[in-house]
Amino acid sequence: MSKVILVLSDGLRYDTAAASMGYLGHLVEAKLASLYKATGELPSLSRPMYETIHTGLPVNAHGIVANLVVRGSTKPNIFHLAHAFGKKTAAAAYFWFSELYNRCPYDPIEDREVDNESLAIQHGRFYTQDEFPDIELFSMAGMLVRRFTPDYLLVHPMGMDHTGETHGANSSEYRNHAIRQDRWLAPYLAEWMERGYDILVTADHGMNSDGLHGGTTPEVREVPLYFIRPAAAGLGDTGKTISQLQIAPTVCKLSELEIPNTMKSAPLV
Ligand SMILES: [Zn+2]
Repeated sequence: MSKVILVLSDGLRYDTAAASMGYLGHLVEAKLASLYKATGELPSLSRPMYETIHTGLPVNAHGIVANLVVRGSTKPNIFHLAHAFGKKTAAAAYFWFSELYNRCPYDPIEDREVDNESLAIQHGRFYTQDEFPDIELFSMAGMLVRRFTPDYLLVHPMGMDHTGETHGANSSEYRNHAIRQDRWLAPYLAEWMERGYDILVTADHGMNSDGLHGGTTPEVREVPLYFIRPAAAGLGDTGKTISQLQIAPTVCKLSELEIPNTMKSAPLV
């Protein structure tokens, strides 16, 4: 059984990750990681894809069809399953995750920082501003690992999305933010690998040159999936395309959680 960390870089498209993220590229080159291209579900929007990534369900099946659908998840999902099986869960993430899996509506005073074993996200650190610095988010995640050694941790930086929506994806700002995010993340990834965590680095959606996402084109649909397993050899750049629907069953399999029959796509392991 593995402990699992999912790094969900909001708004990170595949080609930018592959070109600009040098430490992750090193892990691929050294065959310490496997790189896949993941085809995102539609619409290529944040809240619908947060739920898709955690339930393994397309939007028509889980019902979070737009960012404006503000309610808790009603389908089997990684947080609820892990909590039900007595595992320790944690997240450093945007407050929409608190709404989906802990409590809705979000109370910025009561819900921002929680350590409560009755919640699906037991150790949560949430932010509400898209400008929240990635470097601060990563240090929150690093703290959660050292203090609580969670069985499942979600790490959710907003910097790529915020920079892309401000400047467009065809901008030095967007590309350079990917370089910086990789640089900030590298020491944490190294520590978490040392601690034996299986790590997935992916995104909810990409970004177009106008600074938007939501449509159907490859630039907003194609996201990276770096799969790092310290106890197993990586495959390098696989050249393979997988479905975003495979992430949830993969996390369940790694965590030795029984895969619910709602998750119909095959795990990667
Ligand atoms: Zn997003």
